[in-house]
Amino acid sequence: MPSPWVPAPVEGWELACERLVGALAGKRFCLLSGAGCSTESGIPDYRGGGTARRARSPIRFREFIQDELGRRRYWARSTLGWPRFRSAEPSRAHLGAASLEKGGRLTGIVTQNVDRLHTRAGAERVVELHGALAEVVCLDCGALESRDELQVRLLDANPGWLEQVVELAPDGDAELPVECVRDFRVCGCVRCGGVLKPRVVFFGEGVPVETVRAAYEHVDAAEALVVAGSSLAVFSGYRFVRRALERGCPVHVVNIGPTRADQVATERVAGAAGEVLERLAARLC
Ligand code: NAD
Ligand code: ZN
Repeated sequence: MPSPWVPAPVEGWELACERLVGALAGKRFCLLSGAGCSTESGIPDYRGGGTARRARSPIRFREFIQDELGRRRYWARSTLGWPRFRSAEPSRAHLGAASLEKGGRLTGIVTQNVDRLHTRAGAERVVELHGALAEVVCLDCGALESRDELQVRLLDANPGWLEQVVELAPDGDAELPVECVRDFRVCGCVRCGGVLKPRVVFFGEGVPVETVRAAYEHVDAAEALVVAGSSLAVFSGYRFVRRALERGCPVHVVNIGPTRADQVATERVAGAAGEVLERLAARLC
């Protein structure tokens, strides 16, 4: 899948990367990753420079639960977006992170991404803070179904749906005119016919406590926190920066655009996450 936008690294990032290698030498650290780790895999981020012009608002939890039309719009778009989203391949960022884990450098990876690409790259100690689009859960009976299986059912119920020309949006979504949504047929749970929801945390929805606890374990076991490819605009990710700082643990940022942790970061590398994580793996493992 071609990348829709890969940002240009800011001048001087290589020097900063060398300083980061020095700061992390001999330490085990936690990697907190965000959408910027997947832009090189062709999945757009929300707040990067290439995305601002496509400003849009993803569905909120309340809308999904309460509004039948909103839900139908979600599944109509998602059916279009899923084939491209699922076919994204791990980038150098995911492969670099997996090498760092295998080399014993990481306490774990806490990812805000829902694309499962860290796991696909071979990482094992991954906490998916916001879940993964690859799974669907029934809100009535709790049954799980794979998104691939649901896709088959959705396409059976809506023959020819994929023939529409659309632009892939973040989170496996796709842009679609409202009038097209009316005719879309949503599928229910195979077991009870109940309402299905992707097993991801929507805006306006809380992260499950056990997931947060698992993420804190990775952060608390670490001697440093490295944030890669995240603006940290969302509090559910930023809280781990706060936790690290409370513990007196240094925070480093690998991100091309500005982040909420820039003022508190010990090192700030404005380079591409793929290139930097690949280098860290080569130098530290
Ligand atoms: P964000 O869009 O707020 O920030 C991404 C940051 O990454 C930007 O600051 C951008 O400058 C930077 N960036 C982009 N490409 C980069 C690269 N190659 N190297 C280095 N930096 C790069 O993303 P976020 O902070 O992760 O928050 C978005 C939320 O939306 C997440 O919580 C996530 O659940 C969801 N989301 C997920 C995906 C995905 O699963 N791939 C994609 C979009 C959004
Ligand atoms: Zn059910």
